[in-house]
Amino acid sequence: MKKNIKTILISFNILLCVSISFAQQQEVKPVRLSLISNGLYEILDGRGANGGVYIGDNGVLVIDAKMDKESVDQTIAEIGKITDNPIKYLVNTHSDGDHVNGNQYFPEDVIIISQENCRKEFFVPKRDGSSSDWENPALAAFVPEITFRDQMDIYLGSKKVELWYFGAGHTTGDAVVYIPSEKTAFLGDQFFEGRPQLIHSYKGGNSFEHVKTLTRLLETLDVEKYCSGHSEIVNRQAITDHIDQIQELQQKIKSLIDKNKSLDEIKSEYTENESRLVESIYNEIKALL
Ligand SMILES: [Zn+2]
Repeated sequence: MKKNIKTILISFNILLCVSISFAQQQEVKPVRLSLISNGLYEILDGRGANGGVYIGDNGVLVIDAKMDKESVDQTIAEIGKITDNPIKYLVNTHSDGDHVNGNQYFPEDVIIISQENCRKEFFVPKRDGSSSDWENPALAAFVPEITFRDQMDIYLGSKKVELWYFGAGHTTGDAVVYIPSEKTAFLGDQFFEGRPQLIHSYKGGNSFEHVKTLTRLLETLDVEKYCSGHSEIVNRQAITDHIDQIQELQQKIKSLIDKNKSLDEIKSEYTENESRLVESIYNEIKALL
């Protein structure tokens, strides 16, 4: 009898664990649009990074594409609740899957735009060396078809959107989407809050360039609200703090390298979470020596 109860309890526990993990996998909230100001919205929830929507006089511009059909369908449906204007443009802030995999679920007449290096990075082999999914000819229509080098303006009737490139950092093709009338900029993954900055070395990303790039952004644009792929909306001070934190980390790692510490020894001083950024910075400093 005792054994039976124990068996039942173990089975119950297994069932509980299975149902909890199933619930966690299932828990994707539907896409919603959160008003920033005057026809400008953040795209939140769904599968993939946060993006943006700007409703113009005669068309709509979307910033980043989520990553599956369901989330794109929800995005398009939410936009349809606000305006009858067609989606004219989709800007990819960079080439990571959580920002671009949804491109293929937008109507084919939507014009996809990115910085020119971003387009090239669609075709960079994955981290494991296997070829990019974008090599598939069936997806050719959903790779950015218009690219810019340093700066480009898009007019939605009287409303203006500016696309800026300030240099490499997170990858080599990160665009800033700036809406001057709203003093709001979308940075993609050029900013993270509460977790370490991602630097994709395999796409040419570099933390020292990232600092210079964000500094140029602060010097150039008049922004009050900074939106990004995986954080809340922040102000200028948060970007300055982020730059300071990365520079402090770079200096600390440099001093440890000067003391002949190995990569493993240096990593052991940081959390598991930080180890990828620590390794990128270590490799960047080593490459300069
Ligand atoms: Zn992302």
